[in-house]
Amino acid sequence: MPVAIRNRTRRQVIIILTHAPFCETSGECVCEHVGARLVPSARTIPALGTLGGLSDAVSHVAKVRSLASAGLLELRTQQQPADRAEPAERAEPAEKTGHKRPRRGER
Ligand SMILES: [Zn+2]
Repeated sequence: MPVAIRNRTRRQVIIILTHAPFCETSGECVCEHVGARLVPSARTIPALGTLGGLSDAVSHVAKVRSLASAGLLELRTQQQPADRAEPAERAEPAEKTGHKRPRRGER
């Protein structure tokens, strides 16, 4: 389930998605491969902003854990309405255009 991180500070926070534990936990490597080296990718959370659509493996990243336990970041699991469609909703296909699901970063 994707998670959103809210930055409660007035500074942007850069999270480095280190291969271990992030990629290893999420099962999907988001690093850049430079020769034999893995260069971890990073995400920026704007000051007082929210970044969503992250793998829940982000909660294993040491910096996220420490900032979250200090109350500077807030992690929330995101519900995916499309996956929880109620049977009543299927009877009306007219409503389809309204939803845009955020894409997962695939690389
Ligand atoms: Zn990786």
